[in-house]
Amino acid sequence: MKIQPFSPVKDRHSFHIDVQARYWVDYDSVEELCSVLRDAAGFGLPILPVGGGNNLLFVNDYPGILLHSCLKEKTVLEDKGDEVLLKAGAGHNWDELAAWCVAQGWGGMQNLSGIPGEVGATPVQNIGAYGVEAKDIIEAVEVLDRTDLSQRTIAAADCEFGYRRSRFKTDWKERYIVTYVHYRLSRKPVFQLNYGAVSARLEAQGGLKAGNDPQSVKDNLQMVRRTIMAIRDEKLPDSAKVGNAGSFFMNPEVDRQHFRQLKSACPDMPAWELPDGRYKLSAAWLIDQCGWKGRRLDEAGVWPTQPLVLVNYGQASGEDILELARSIIDDVKRRFDVALRPEVIILGE
Ligand SMILES: Cc1cc2nc3c(=O)[nH]c(=O)nc-3n(C[C@H](O)[C@H](O)[C@H](O)COP(=O)(O)OP(=O)(O)OC[C@H]3O[C@@H](n4cnc5c(N)ncnc54)[C@H](O)[C@@H]3O)c2cc1C
Repeated sequence: MKIQPFSPVKDRHSFHIDVQARYWVDYDSVEELCSVLRDAAGFGLPILPVGGGNNLLFVNDYPGILLHSCLKEKTVLEDKGDEVLLKAGAGHNWDELAAWCVAQGWGGMQNLSGIPGEVGATPVQNIGAYGVEAKDIIEAVEVLDRTDLSQRTIAAADCEFGYRRSRFKTDWKERYIVTYVHYRLSRKPVFQLNYGAVSARLEAQGGLKAGNDPQSVKDNLQMVRRTIMAIRDEKLPDSAKVGNAGSFFMNPEVDRQHFRQLKSACPDMPAWELPDGRYKLSAAWLIDQCGWKGRRLDEAGVWPTQPLVLVNYGQASGEDILELARSIIDDVKRRFDVALRPEVIILGE
């Protein structure tokens, strides 16, 4: 275990805001996690479990303990016929896990390739990309209960997964720390390719191989992973070079009546009908229409190829990013009467 007081956080999160935490703690086992929580209770400091910091915006120094898991092991719990149940530690790098599963010929994570972060955040955020969400492969989540330091395994069905949402972000936020996640993967995957430019790109490369033999499945998984990584690289800034947290806003949802009004005023507005009859709108499109794409307010800006992504050009403070976000929210509200909500977790606002 490593405990660092007054620890700089700039290089531990993808927005690279220059802040510090009262304590940064790296723990190597569940026992160490329990001992930190026991000690922390005595000091009354706030606690936040963090992974790679890819979805966080620090507006101020963090006055408590940022708790980082170094549980990185992975174990096959079951290997039956076409299905594999894999358990991975919260501190395992997500994309390295996805790459490893693809190399084994196990389908399920390929569309989620290239999402930065660690395993522990995948159920919290219900990460998603290219038509797939973590909920599609999560079987269960192992947690430590902060109230009594007991360990539990929670079935996916109890996590109330939704669009970038789970109970770990709402009523369980102060209660559970994710220690391990169980993923169900398949040797006969059903490929989800009808999203964005994925299928067109694959066709241009000759398409996926026919057949479900292990080598064809491995080749197909690799091809989908490579294609998705290439599309992501073209659209998104590399956070090692330009600070950002991916999509800053969620795609907003509106009711049918509101959608009809919007569509008659803007016939080319992209939208997806949801199973409950509401409509999901493209936040990127709305922001673009308000003229924000590529704009810069001093050190904070809107990424030129993806207006959902707000960036720190180097010296932005959390407040600068927040100011920019507020201006965008106000403009979208004024022009479309649609409320944008941040996907990024804002700390210390
Ligand atoms: C360039 C870029 C592209 C991105 N693209 C996507 C994308 O396509 N799809 C997508 O869904 N996201 C995307 N994101 C957002 C981000 O990658 C995900 O939200 C990811 O899951 C964050 O993982 P992390 O380990 O960095 O979590 P952090 O940012 O450190 O934490 C995120 C949340 O999870 C909680 N948390 C972390 N670990 C634990 C734990 N062990 N127990 C309990 N709570 C925990 C934190 O408290 C926080 O609330 C992108 C981000 C960037 C920078």
